[in-house]
Amino acid sequence: MALRWFLLLGFGYKGYPAYDFRWSCPQTVFSPLYLALQALGVKIHFFHEVTELQVEGSTDATRALTGVRMRQQARVKDGSCRYRPLLPPGQRKDPPSLAPWPREPLYDQLHDDDAAQLRERGIDLENAWSGWEGTGEVTLQQGVDFDLCVLGIPLGALREVARPLHDPKYATASPAWTTMVNEIAVTPTASFQLWFDRPWESLYSGAHRALATGFTQPWPSVGDFSHVIEWEGWPSGNTPRHLAYHTGAMLPGHPLDEYPVDERDYPQMAQEETASKMKQWLRDNYAAMYDKVGSWDEFLSVLNAPEGVEGVARLDAQYFHAAVQPSDLYILSQAGTIKHRLGQGESGFQHLFLCGDWTRTSLNSGCVEAAIQSGMLVSKVISRRPSFVWSPGF
Ligand SMILES: Cc1cc2nc3c(=O)[nH]c(=O)nc-3n(C[C@H](O)[C@H](O)[C@H](O)COP(=O)(O)OP(=O)(O)OC[C@H]3O[C@@H](n4cnc5c(N)ncnc54)[C@H](O)[C@@H]3O)c2cc1C
Repeated sequence: MALRWFLLLGFGYKGYPAYDFRWSCPQTVFSPLYLALQALGVKIHFFHEVTELQVEGSTDATRALTGVRMRQQARVKDGSCRYRPLLPPGQRKDPPSLAPWPREPLYDQLHDDDAAQLRERGIDLENAWSGWEGTGEVTLQQGVDFDLCVLGIPLGALREVARPLHDPKYATASPAWTTMVNEIAVTPTASFQLWFDRPWESLYSGAHRALATGFTQPWPSVGDFSHVIEWEGWPSGNTPRHLAYHTGAMLPGHPLDEYPVDERDYPQMAQEETASKMKQWLRDNYAAMYDKVGSWDEFLSVLNAPEGVEGVARLDAQYFHAAVQPSDLYILSQAGTIKHRLGQGESGFQHLFLCGDWTRTSLNSGCVEAAIQSGMLVSKVISRRPSFVWSPGF
């Protein structure tokens, strides 16, 4: 996989070897897709979390998807498909016609009781450990509510949702699913962003690091995202000059193995522990990475922070994040495991099709291009369109 990627990057690219997101990732990638779906009249029911794929049959010939059970996470005043998820214009500086996504639900569109409870209990609807029971349950039945189902839930989250498909305790489990779920590894990732009061030329020597990797583990990769600073709404007089995004993978594994969902404190604990490891890593490696900055104190002083914040507290004005939620786990392409990936039309269950960066594509790795290619392939399997799906050489 790695050799193929390096060959592709070196000889197979068109335009540029890599592209930066011009704005935030959701705004750049998902706002246009969402707006296109909306223009096509697709109904998107927000606040529905799939809790179980219901299946029947115990042989290759009889296995079939029969239903999809969902938890309604909150009720939308105007109906779930009338929720307007993007931030209304004018709240911050944004590119024309490309509204951003908020960090939290837009509570004023939710039923007052649901909004009040979510806020009072500090519920994050994307947190598998939140203990939120939801406000109801919906089951869609094959043949009644839908004909075909395209499953785009990531592999890390599928372990719970798709137990009847892969867990040998169920008579319906398919050996191909059992192997895929057990053999293909996922991993939590951790990232941090540092805002500096100096441009990159005053921070490190050598070439500009637009996108670079190979630094000390476990945070070997860094990107320059200074171009998004202008959209971040900084007060004039305290606008950073450089934004560095550092990222890396933690050890492969699934946090739910060690911390079942009733261990409510786990996500917070993981955030704190990982942030502290990242800060220590910075303390150990800042001089190699930012060699034009002298001492540790000087390094802290060139980080952007509110006036009056001094010393190590300036790190608290940066952003440290551990991605430990099942849905956020990163799919790995370890040697010998690609053969266990299922193709878009190979779920082995009638009425069920697959897409996502974890399915088999010609890229077979965790990236947006693989997810898009997989989406095009599943469309082609179902409808024969598009007639051409891009695939890299080699
Ligand atoms: C730290 C990090 C950095 C990355 N950097 C890059 C990069 O620079 N370039 C790049 O190309 N790729 C990058 N990736 C990979 C990229 O994000 C993924 O490959 C891509 O998002 C996969 O798309 P997907 O549609 O398969 O899954 P996702 O984008 O994960 O979408 C799956 C959707 O399913 C939803 N979902 C999950 N569970 C349920 C449920 N039970 N019910 C209903 N919905 C559910 C989720 O909310 C999510 O919206 C990065 C990933 C990480 C973690």
